[in-house]
Order: sequence, then structure tokens, then C-alpha cells
Amino acid sequence: NLQNSLNFSGGPGALPENVLLQLSEEIMKVPGLGISILGISHRSEWFAEVISELEGNIRTLLDLSDNYHVLFLQGGATQQFSMVPMTLLRGKSAAAEYIQTGYWSSKAIPEAKLEGPVRIIWSGVETNFKRLPTDDELRFSPDAPYMHYISNETVEGLQFQRVLGRDDVPRICDMSSDFLSKPYDFERFSLIYAHAQKNIGPSGITVIVVRDDLIEHTPPANLPSFLDYKIQAKAHSNFNTPPVFAIYAVLLVTRWLMNDIGGLKRMEQINRRKAELLYGQIDESGGFYQGRANTADRSLMNVVFNLPTTELERRFIDAAQSAGFSGLAGHRAIGGLRASIYNAVTIKAVEELANFMESFQRKFH
Ligand code: PMP
Repeated sequence: NLQNSLNFSGGPGALPENVLLQLSEEIMKVPGLGISILGISHRSEWFAEVISELEGNIRTLLDLSDNYHVLFLQGGATQQFSMVPMTLLRGKSAAAEYIQTGYWSSKAIPEAKLEGPVRIIWSGVETNFKRLPTDDELRFSPDAPYMHYISNETVEGLQFQRVLGRDDVPRICDMSSDFLSKPYDFERFSLIYAHAQKNIGPSGITVIVVRDDLIEHTPPANLPSFLDYKIQAKAHSNFNTPPVFAIYAVLLVTRWLMNDIGGLKRMEQINRRKAELLYGQIDESGGFYQGRANTADRSLMNVVFNLPTTELERRFIDAAQSAGFSGLAGHRAIGGLRASIYNAVTIKAVEELANFMESFQRKFH
């Protein structure tokens, strides 16, 4: 009896109900074409229009100028952990700078080290990734080939509420778990990457927003063509067969964001309201629910918390499942509980979860 509307999965996550309905119809027949979306050529006019509308929607939502490319690549965010240093660090003697704020940035760092020198300018390992650095703790170098960080650590539920780094060093950000969840100063970044499966679609596709100077001025590095941003940009995300279905689903989500929600400002208001509801429930529980992240660094996307015992956590997950909720178990690396409240999770669904938390506490406290 699990319900799509009560899906709090960390990813792949919830998608808007009307997008799911439209996709389910179009698996059989795309209106005007008469054939299934799963059987349309990536060289068709239809798909060229899909890519061009999607690129346009992302440009509009991000308010991007023409000197940025918008690419849709495969290989997930993990492939970007490698593509970024392959492109920008290979053969360099100055160290790229990384901020180690949690599980996912810890995965990105060893991939970069395969390509060249890396300096970790701050690490939260010793504080068990419960907080993010303050500006006083960050010393950025003007000589770094680039600086990389993750705007939202999905596992630990930590989110930066500001842009980091120097304007004279290329700023690279993994926005996989908060992309399109709020307005941002996107043009302060040289390269942003975000896989689709949190806020904007199913897995299989990763959006890359990259400023042209970053790829145009990079010396050739004998990269495989598929891993070359410049070649991908020239081919308009159609270098080889792309995941047509996933790209189309992302297009429908961007239409929903623009037409049903009304843009990123409105999306942020909704997301803030959802986060307030859950953190409020945690803070008013007298210690029954314990938020994991330092209050100032709390994520608006992933609300990570614990109960007094692992036994109670297990019971919470079972009871939640019986009530129709899904996806509430914490990441396997740290356990506990995690409610991921990505764009498509409604305020109503979050109210239902907050009510469930309240009644569970009454029963077991
Ligand atoms: N970065 C972040 C912030 C993530 O949350 C994840 C996965 N949840 C990844 C990278 C890895 O992404 P993928 O599985 O698409 O390679």
C-alpha cells in the first residue's frame, strides 16, 4: 500500500504526479506520433525539438547567458567526478582544491587524485560530517586550476546557503541533490553538474552547465571523445544514442516547474515550508527526534535524523511503510532516518509525515 505521493526516497526520488501520468500514457503512444516514447529515434525531428526545448527551459530557469553550454550526459554524477579532473587537472602541477563535507565529496576526491594533485582545503571527517565549514575556515588559493564542492550533501543532509570560493578560480559544483530547487547565482560557476534522479527526473541523465571559456581554452588531453565536453557540446547531447526517455521525462519536469509551480522562486518557498515542517517537528520533540546536521547547515532537501535507539528506528520505518510512506531509511553508510523532500514532494505529503511523526512519538515516548 505504498503511495507515490508519500515517496521520501533519497534518489531516484519522487516525480510530479501529472508527469508520471503523462509518461505512463506516452509509453504506449506519444500524441501526434502514434508510437511509444520508448521506440523513437534519437535522430528524429521530434527528439531534436525535445532537446532544444529542454535546453531552453534550463536556460530560462537558470537565467543563463549564451556563453554557457547546457549538456545532457550519461554516466551519472560519478562520471563527472572523473571528467572534471580529466579535463582540468591532467598534467597540471598546481593542486585542485576540494572541500570534503560528506559521503559524496569523499567519493569525488580520490577520482581527482588519479588525474593530478589535490588539496583538501577543509574536511569534516573528524566532526563526523555533522557540520559545514565557516568562511574563516576556508583559505582558497588563487593558483588552483579549479575549486570543487558539493552544494548539498545528500547522505548527511548538509547544504551550503552561500556560494564558496574565489571569482578568479574556476568554481565547480556538484548540485545533484539541490539543482532547480531554488534560485542561485548560477553564473558564478564555471561548471555545474547535477544528475536528474533527485529533483528533475529519472536516473540515466546528468545535466552539465559549463561556461565556454572553460572548455574552449583547455589544451587537448587525448580524452576519449565521449568524455570530451567540447565534442559533446558540438554534438548537442546527441554524440551517441542518449537516453531518450530520461531526457523527455526531464523536459516534462521543467515544464511542470515553469507552468504549474511558477519558477524557482516559488519552488524555494515551497521547499522552505516543507523543511520547516519537518525540522519543526524534530525540534519540538523534546529530544525524541534528533536532527543530525548542525542547525545552520541543515539541508532543505534531505532531513536526516535519529531516534533514541536503532530498535525504535526500525519500528518507525515499519510503521511508516504500513501507513503508505516509503524511502525513509537513512543511507546505508550512516543508518538512521532520512526524509528527502525533493521538488515533487508536496507540502501536503510533508504535513502527513509530520503528523505521522507526532503520533509515533506519542505511542513510543
Ligand atoms: N553526488 C551527489 C551529491 C549524490 O547525491 C550522488 C548520488 N546520490 C552522487 C554524486 C552519485 O551520483 P550517480 O549515482 O548519479 O553517479
